[in-house]
Amino acid sequence: MNGPMRTLNTILDYALWPLLVIVALIPTSIGISAGHGKLAFNLTYFSFAAVLFILERLRPHEREWLKNDGQMVPDLAHTVFTKTFVQLVIMMLGYYGLVSTVGGASGTGPWPNHWPMWAQVVLALVVAEFGLYWAHRIAHTWMPLWHFHAVHHSVKKLWFFNTGRFHIIDTLKSMIFSGPLLWLAGTPNDVVQYFGAITAYIGFLTHCNIQMKFGWLNYLFNTPELHRWHHSTDLREGDKNFGENLMLWDIIFRSFYLDPTRHRPDIIGIKSAMPKTFLAQIAMPFRWHKYQDRYKAGEIDKGTLM
Ligand SMILES: [Zn+2]
Repeated sequence: MNGPMRTLNTILDYALWPLLVIVALIPTSIGISAGHGKLAFNLTYFSFAAVLFILERLRPHEREWLKNDGQMVPDLAHTVFTKTFVQLVIMMLGYYGLVSTVGGASGTGPWPNHWPMWAQVVLALVVAEFGLYWAHRIAHTWMPLWHFHAVHHSVKKLWFFNTGRFHIIDTLKSMIFSGPLLWLAGTPNDVVQYFGAITAYIGFLTHCNIQMKFGWLNYLFNTPELHRWHHSTDLREGDKNFGENLMLWDIIFRSFYLDPTRHRPDIIGIKSAMPKTFLAQIAMPFRWHKYQDRYKAGEIDKGTLM
């Protein structure tokens, strides 16, 4: 690589992450302002996935991770199943009038409606992140919840496609920890839509396998660099960086981890066995110990991700 090309490459390394977030937010914000937030989000979400797919092939962080890990079907099934179920729950809450009071328009919550939209979105991120942070941290420390969260961590590589690989119970737990905080604060619907979109885009990016650098952004946002450490099998690295979008609560509660001297963790995944199929993964947390015992006894010799 010659001089100018190397300079351009370095600029791209640092510019790509903020550029991707901004580019995704432009159509989203136009849609929300026009009252078509859901449509704008869905169009951006799938276009964003396509862009990440191409970038992963053009400039992969880890060439090895471009290989098929045999988990595309379960990854997709978890994503679709969880997203559909979450939409149903939100619709049902709306039906019973529980979420209709969300929104400062009702004037019930302490939400600062007079703030500029960007400041309200930052506030929503900080408030919801407090719940998401603890939902995630508890999932790593309390074993019954870890058995659900382990489905997400069981992959051996990270790429945009396994972003949504969450056991349904794991996702519901995160919603229970964060949703009521926004609801109690009286967060307006537009702000909640921004929050949901930002969480989806940053989530895609945290898992993506694209060569990027982050500098000081690592101390503000959950970047792919920080999240790769979170997926380490070494718990000194893996039990860190619990933030979903922001690193604020990790810094405050001392769980921030970054090793700039190393490229990434040695091994990504979990130290337990995990079945390879979607339905077995859904059932797995309910028969965790039995499955691990059978694996250790050599009764399961294939069909596991270990
Ligand atoms: Zn985790």
